[in-house]
Amino acid sequence: MRDIFELRDADGAGRIGDLEVPRAGVTVETPALLPVINPHLRTIAPATLESEFGADVLITNGYIFYKSDEYRERALEEGLHDLLDFSGAIMTDSGSFQLSEYGEISVTNEEILQFQHDIGSDIGTPIDIPTPPDVGREQAEAELETTQQRLEAAEDVGVGEMLVSAPVQGSTYPDLREAAAEHAYGTSLDVFPIGAVVPMMNNYRYGDMVEAILAAKRGLGADAPVHLFGAGHPMMFALAVAAGCDLFDSAAYALYARDGRYLTVSGTDHLDDLDYFPCSCPVCAAHTPDDLRNVGQDEREELLARHNLHVSYREIRTVKQALREGNLFELVERRARGHPSMVDGYRALLDAADQLERSDPVSKGSFFYLSGESARRPEVLRHHERLSRLPVEGDRVLLSEGDTNDRYDETWRLQPPFGPFPSALSDSYPLTAQLPDRLDVSAYTAAADGVRALAEANPGTEFAVGHWAWPEAALEMLPEDVETLVLGPDSVPPEEASDDGE
Ligand SMILES: [Zn+2]
Repeated sequence: MRDIFELRDADGAGRIGDLEVPRAGVTVETPALLPVINPHLRTIAPATLESEFGADVLITNGYIFYKSDEYRERALEEGLHDLLDFSGAIMTDSGSFQLSEYGEISVTNEEILQFQHDIGSDIGTPIDIPTPPDVGREQAEAELETTQQRLEAAEDVGVGEMLVSAPVQGSTYPDLREAAAEHAYGTSLDVFPIGAVVPMMNNYRYGDMVEAILAAKRGLGADAPVHLFGAGHPMMFALAVAAGCDLFDSAAYALYARDGRYLTVSGTDHLDDLDYFPCSCPVCAAHTPDDLRNVGQDEREELLARHNLHVSYREIRTVKQALREGNLFELVERRARGHPSMVDGYRALLDAADQLERSDPVSKGSFFYLSGESARRPEVLRHHERLSRLPVEGDRVLLSEGDTNDRYDETWRLQPPFGPFPSALSDSYPLTAQLPDRLDVSAYTAAADGVRALAEANPGTEFAVGHWAWPEAALEMLPEDVETLVLGPDSVPPEEASDDGE
């Protein structure tokens, strides 16, 4: 057990946690955003991040300090906290990014870890090999082996209370990601970044990103804090949290601002294209897009960076509130509507409903059925699995969207997308779900899956389905020996119809 990470509220694979960072004497509540600070380009000062944005953790690159004539000695003498003027937790990266960009760096794994310790980092990082997506399997395996050797070597570097991260690589091979995660979790290291997902995000491959996260999560214990390395766009925070990520770092707020780009929870706008700011952060409340176009480059960049950070922190808080209320899936679904690639990410998440189901709470606040994707949520899957264990009484059982019927020994309720359930369960989650009247086919086919699960578990029972004109696609999925009757005024015996009216 890793006792630095304490988990609280959960939803899907998402969770709120407390990450204790002993060297900083700080407990960081996750999901958390770590703004990236480049000592050479301070768009927003760390002290401002702390006082105005409430930042309690940031990330900077240890290798930049190591190589810098200007900052190296000062960092060693003063320490990062004084040099940057930041009292929260400071995580450092190692130069892996420079290694992947330029092919070589002039420091060893052990030296850079020791250096990160010596400049006062609270969470250090070894030099892993960030293998890009889509490389050949041999390359992915060979580079993963190097990364794993570096992690093992990192265990032996004397870094005192500094936490050390154990990056999980494996390119676009889910089995390698899972094995890499299992290996990393087996070391004595502390925080688990999922590496080399930036090329996926830059190309809007959110489905692949989610698959990489889920594969890594299968190899990690629940108590492993998971960092999605290089992920700073607020549009994907809810999705990545639902898949099980706890930490995000944002260079995006500053990089995008430099290019005049304005972040929102549904994508990226260019300042040149905006007539109105769809936001009420202090920057957007006080300025119009025209104002920003008419100031100098430095001021524009800073103002855009501030907006980008505000929208990022706000989204982290929105995600946390959704986790607390148990409606993270509803939030992911709303965010997924912002871009087709996010729909892809959401669908990749639901493809792993069985994996999510294991950590998804049995009872939550509310289940809103918002689209055909809602029919694939873990709660629906769990109900279908539960159906095989619910006792059925009687030889002839009606599963009905309408009234009970005396011609059967027992009547169960029938509700898309869940399918059948005993009426005693009507008030329990998720069967209290709120649904639109005009349902899509997915809701009915999911309910038919439920009927099938119940029928298969009770081969000696005769089942009948009473439905309000289900679509043919759903009726076709029912087992052949299940009788169907369409509900309506004509199908209900007169005495029952009058009973119903009382
Ligand atoms: Zn704003």
